[in-house]
Amino acid sequence: MPKINLLPKEISELIAAGEVVERPASVVKELVENSIDAGAKHITLEIKRGGILYIRVTDDGCGIAYADVPTAFLRHATSKIKSAGDLDRISSLGFRGEALAATAVVSKTEMFTKQAGDVFGTRYIIEGGEQKIYEESGCPDGTTVVVKDLFYNTPARMKFLKRDITEGNSVAAVFERIAISHPEISFKFIRDEKTVLTTPGDGKLYSAVYSVLGRETASTLIPLAGQEGTVKVSGFVCKPAFCRKSRSVQYVFLNGRYVQSNTVTAAVEQAYKNSAMIGRFPAFIVCLELLPETVDVNVHPAKTQVRFADEKRIFDAVYVSVKNAIATGDTRPEIILNKQPAYFGRMTTEEYRQQVANIPPTPAEKAYGITNSKPESKTPNSFSFKSDNTPFFERKDVKEFLNAGQKTAEQGVPAPEPENTPSEVATADDKAAEIQPSQGENEDVRYIGEAFLTYIIAETEDSLYLIDKHAAHERINYNKLKKSARAESQQLLLPVSVRLSGEEYDAVISNEALLADAGFETEDFGNSTVLVRAVPGMLSGEDVSDMIVEAAKNLIIKGAPESERLDRIYYTVACKAAIKGGKYTTEKELEALAKTVLSDNDIMYCPHGRPVAFKLTRKELEKQFGRRI
Ligand code: ADP
Ligand code: MG
Repeated sequence: MPKINLLPKEISELIAAGEVVERPASVVKELVENSIDAGAKHITLEIKRGGILYIRVTDDGCGIAYADVPTAFLRHATSKIKSAGDLDRISSLGFRGEALAATAVVSKTEMFTKQAGDVFGTRYIIEGGEQKIYEESGCPDGTTVVVKDLFYNTPARMKFLKRDITEGNSVAAVFERIAISHPEISFKFIRDEKTVLTTPGDGKLYSAVYSVLGRETASTLIPLAGQEGTVKVSGFVCKPAFCRKSRSVQYVFLNGRYVQSNTVTAAVEQAYKNSAMIGRFPAFIVCLELLPETVDVNVHPAKTQVRFADEKRIFDAVYVSVKNAIATGDTRPEIILNKQPAYFGRMTTEEYRQQVANIPPTPAEKAYGITNSKPESKTPNSFSFKSDNTPFFERKDVKEFLNAGQKTAEQGVPAPEPENTPSEVATADDKAAEIQPSQGENEDVRYIGEAFLTYIIAETEDSLYLIDKHAAHERINYNKLKKSARAESQQLLLPVSVRLSGEEYDAVISNEALLADAGFETEDFGNSTVLVRAVPGMLSGEDVSDMIVEAAKNLIIKGAPESERLDRIYYTVACKAAIKGGKYTTEKELEALAKTVLSDNDIMYCPHGRPVAFKLTRKELEKQFGRRI
């Protein structure tokens, strides 16, 4: 039997240190949190070589009294809790009294600290846990901690460190989260002698977020606000059109502390359903304020996953706040045109005239007999009509031009597709009757026309809109189905019998109630056949058997909860019943669509998350045409 030994103090301390200090980022987190707990208004972090070589944290907080400095470096030495009862209402970031001790054991640590009222401060050096210098020293109010050569005495730990750049990135991530969670503090980050981040410390979350995420991302954010009992939600979420390919910009803060919570992430992402494209993730900064006793924070310091006493309430609070934010704060994506070079700024008038003279005339200029003036002309700005006695429309060149124009027009417009028969058009008209501008109609919407048989062009007082007619109609249909699919179900004059595959048949007969919720009335007819008696009203004229087959396919998807399956049926119906891009639609209908879309903020995205409309502001156009600088 091997003999059981009590570990020497140095070894047990090294083991304990390993639990708190895993890498430079964990040292930075502890030091910066200490500065925050000390009431600092300004905190500067400097690192070299990813923090492995050098970490410095300087603050203007309360400082430590000369006599207390060595104690601060002892394990379980803390000024933040005194009794077991304090553990249930922790408001400071640190409380275990381990960080300074653990860091000092595995590095060469130096501290300068001074309390505001004291004449002298303290200089303290501790290397590998051993005190080297402890003396009075002149220093500014506040505390500076320098950690050099991390893990110099624990080569095994050193081996686990990644490349400098990777460690440095982890430090940056930790620091950025802290900076966002404390907008009232001004943070500065110097990385390898370059200042890479400063936050103003003006108390505004948006300012901190702006500094950390940059102008471009910040401009896509909409504010979040909500309350559910004692749960308070604030922060920002991105407009659905700006969801990203990864979850890289997702922050959850709980009572001012960065945490990870699957519940919060799921609630936010659920709220983006039907607004964001599939496979894209929202950017968000969700700040939760809860009563401290409803959260378990006494988890390992390096772990950030939290558990809530009431996960469902948190989910609901976040979900509702995000839904509201999207509904009220989202705006249509804007078209920003490329900046044109300042045309007149680049050349003299004479150069411009030269250039104009060299441009070959356009067909219109030819047709109308407009010729460019010669550069040497005395009246260089004028255009002249050719004098010709032939009546204008009789002229050979004009006739040619008009004929050519006619041909171009014929070629340019895609021929109506074969399905676009008069009866189809009539169906489209029926659909038009269904699209009524919703309440609170935007009186100022003016329908201009349609491009490529797909995009409606409309204007309001100060913006031009391009609307995808299919996406718009699909979303309107979807919203309607969600509201009243069952009520709007329509009996077929003659029931239609549909033969299905075995799997589809099973799906339909075992989901009769769900199909009824979506507006389909079906009956088991035996022999893999179902009888369809009613369909959603908006589908009249569509192929019933096609619809049932598609609905059945959506019901087969395994593992999807009922609400998800119902939603998928709504998508299918909404899409089927919607007018199609590339096909003829009456002007009346297009106009009604434009008005509906632009007066209802719930019609921003199609059910799959594609944008319904783009906006081009008058201002942007004026900039492009050089009317505005
Ligand atoms: P904890 O933060 O869990 O209390 P630490 O080992 O991180 O433990 O710090 C020990 C103590 O040292 C703290 O409780 C605090 O009193 C003091 N301290 C550490 N850093 C600072 C600082 N930057 N400013 C003022 N006091 C500090
Ligand atoms: Mg601490």
